[in-house]
Amino acid sequence: TVARLRPFGSTIFAEMTELAVRHDAVNLGQGFPDTDGPASMLAVARAAIADGLNQYPPGRGMPVLRQAIADDRARRYSTAYDPATEILVTVGATEAISAAVLGLVEPGREVVLIEPYYDSYAAAIALAGARRRTARLVPDGDRFVLDLDSLRAAITPETRMLMVNSPHNPTGSVLDRADLTAIAEVAVEHDLLVLTDEVYEHLVYDGTEHISISTLPGMRERTIVVSSAAKTFNVTGWKIGWACAPAPLLDAVLTAKQFLTFVGGGPFQPAVAHAINEELDWVLAQRDGLSDKRTRLSAALRDSGFGVATSYGGYFVCADIGPLGAEDGLAFCRELPARLGVAAVPVSVFADHPADYKHLVRFTFSKRDETIDEGVRRLRTGI
Ligand code: PMP
Ligand code: GLN
Repeated sequence: TVARLRPFGSTIFAEMTELAVRHDAVNLGQGFPDTDGPASMLAVARAAIADGLNQYPPGRGMPVLRQAIADDRARRYSTAYDPATEILVTVGATEAISAAVLGLVEPGREVVLIEPYYDSYAAAIALAGARRRTARLVPDGDRFVLDLDSLRAAITPETRMLMVNSPHNPTGSVLDRADLTAIAEVAVEHDLLVLTDEVYEHLVYDGTEHISISTLPGMRERTIVVSSAAKTFNVTGWKIGWACAPAPLLDAVLTAKQFLTFVGGGPFQPAVAHAINEELDWVLAQRDGLSDKRTRLSAALRDSGFGVATSYGGYFVCADIGPLGAEDGLAFCRELPARLGVAAVPVSVFADHPADYKHLVRFTFSKRDETIDEGVRRLRTGI
């Protein structure tokens, strides 16, 4: 392995899911649902295959999907993106993120992440030969909040891009308008690009509002919006994601994307277009169901003795193992599948300052109630 990728080894999700399979554990580690998305969407995908939509789709993605994404951004965020030049379909949000960094950040320049951060961000930056710095989410009562001083301190003359992720993996925090405004001001002041990862854009709880930083003053022109069908329509295996950005920025993303995968997911594209156009009520019901699951898992973890931060969005809840008398989340998660038949993910692997997050483990509630209940039952037997 080349030096710049050596620190990455295999992902924590692969490691923990492999342990889960080996020990027949309840997998509350990797964030993916164990139920299917809307039936009408699955039917469109089956029909697309039967109808022969099995060759390379257009490089920017099928027009029907780009139009659906444009209509959705216009309807829900009042931002206009031209489907011909400002929307790109990618192989999941993961490819959009990598292609954006490869296409827009020169080697040696810096990208600022909000720590803890989703693991692919750091790897994408390494692939590009760029460097990362971090702003910090810090505990405040039972939630995590952005430390704005750490954001300002992370900016240097070499900074090219800020990455924002809200709703946030792994903490479940959702950035509010004040935080997003402060981030936007930093971006404008230092003339930075902003990549906003909104894969959990629909999944916000307790009346929390998801605000896209792309909608704030001065931001559309410098922002790459990234999202995905994976978590919205329960199709993590389809790998249909997208990027929306002004044409010159999107062209740079496309240039890199062409040589990563060229295109992907042909027959799934019309199915996702259908879902975006027709199944938003399904998504709202799904969101409400996830909100209940979050409450169910959080309460059960608290009852079992964990300290639990409130999750306001996404798939995850962060739990403090300190009250259990444990302190190393990585060791805890490595032994949990064999010891109690449950898999979770240590938060320290999402951090450049792992000591600060060592006591935290991430559980997903994106599972059937029976799965969550069985996981909790197992935890209770031995914690
Ligand atoms: N960003 C975040 C914050 C995620 O949690 C994930 C995992 N779904 C991704 C990106 C990757 O999305 P995709 O599966 O569409 O590549
Ligand atoms: N996004 C999911 C998670 O954070 C799964 C990611 C993956 O397996 N690469 O758990």
